[in-house]
Amino acid sequence: MLLIRNADVFAPRPLGLQTLLIGGGQILWMGPGSQSPDLPAAFAATFTTLDLAGKRLIPGLIDGHVHVTGGGGEAGFKTRVPPVPLTRFSLAGVTTVVGLLGTDDVARGPRDLLATTYALREDGLNAYAYAGGYHVPLRTLTGSVRDDLVFLEPLLGIGEVAISDHRSSQPTLDEILRLAADAHVAGLLTGKAGVLHLHLGDGPRGLDLVRRALAGSELPPRVFNPTHVNRCKALFDEAVDLARAGCTIDLTAFPVAEGEDAYSAADGLRRYLASGAPPERVTVSSDAGGCLPCFDADGRVTHMDVGAAGALLDTLRNLLAGGLPLERALPAFTSNPAGLLRLAGKGQIAAGFDADLVALDATGGADTVIIRGIAHVQSGLAVRRGTFETV
Ligand SMILES: [Zn+2]
Repeated sequence: MLLIRNADVFAPRPLGLQTLLIGGGQILWMGPGSQSPDLPAAFAATFTTLDLAGKRLIPGLIDGHVHVTGGGGEAGFKTRVPPVPLTRFSLAGVTTVVGLLGTDDVARGPRDLLATTYALREDGLNAYAYAGGYHVPLRTLTGSVRDDLVFLEPLLGIGEVAISDHRSSQPTLDEILRLAADAHVAGLLTGKAGVLHLHLGDGPRGLDLVRRALAGSELPPRVFNPTHVNRCKALFDEAVDLARAGCTIDLTAFPVAEGEDAYSAADGLRRYLASGAPPERVTVSSDAGGCLPCFDADGRVTHMDVGAAGALLDTLRNLLAGGLPLERALPAFTSNPAGLLRLAGKGQIAAGFDADLVALDATGGADTVIIRGIAHVQSGLAVRRGTFETV
């Protein structure tokens, strides 16, 4: 049992100084100020106490787009990115990840993705995954993506299926509709998110396929979840319109160069919130472990970078430095992805919720990170490591 005192809680709503009792991986009790839970003294004496001395305590970040197996591979086998170890996430305040396959769903597949997801769980992280990858037909474990979603517990939806990109399988409207229907029906049968997470390239078709899918079917807009929508400014505007129509859109925290036709995730989120579109229909993810290639006109890689899990906290820090209140910025990293992904007990700080918590230091870095009640980071240092991470 852990008693956290003097936590300045943003749930994401600001609640002021609170005391929290953590046990069994959950927040068992929370009360204002220095109030303590009403328990027998002998029992209370067994608690470990953590005094946060007024540090801001936020829900653990939920990263809805992570290449946990390592992504890449667009410039030959040597560019396959290695798997992302536990502390890359924990040190960056990320307590939940959704793993997925990208361009390389050939040398990598659903078995590797699920095994890596289970490994991260064994290391103590909350980990889920998407079925499929960039290309249609999707690779599956059971022979049917709908069966995969229904019977394989960690799988939350389908993704990242690529559209408007030269690396895509150039899916047709009917193919996209079929995948969205499979995701939706599996969601109905299981209570899972059942979303179709769509990788958007920088092609001029933009989100046309999604608009036509919405106009030409009975599927609810929430099923369609486009990501990387801040990679071009025009695409971002299209995405904001789709959010008004009921889709949740995802911004990627990739590096953006001066003068580039793109918005950083921080700029994108500021613009989104200022647009008056529904504040709960936007999320930010890192693309960690994925490679961020630039291509020439022939489709050859000219430059390559790797997405980092720390990009989420960097984006949050950037937003705070720009004057956005923490409670306005936080939902896109916490309660919004939890809502979209239907992760009950995640994304908020409240009694009964999972004890996935991050205490921020004065600069907005992760001072203390607790995942399901277990301390992973203390004073900015990892106190737990992944199985193959050296001490
Ligand atoms: Zn992608």
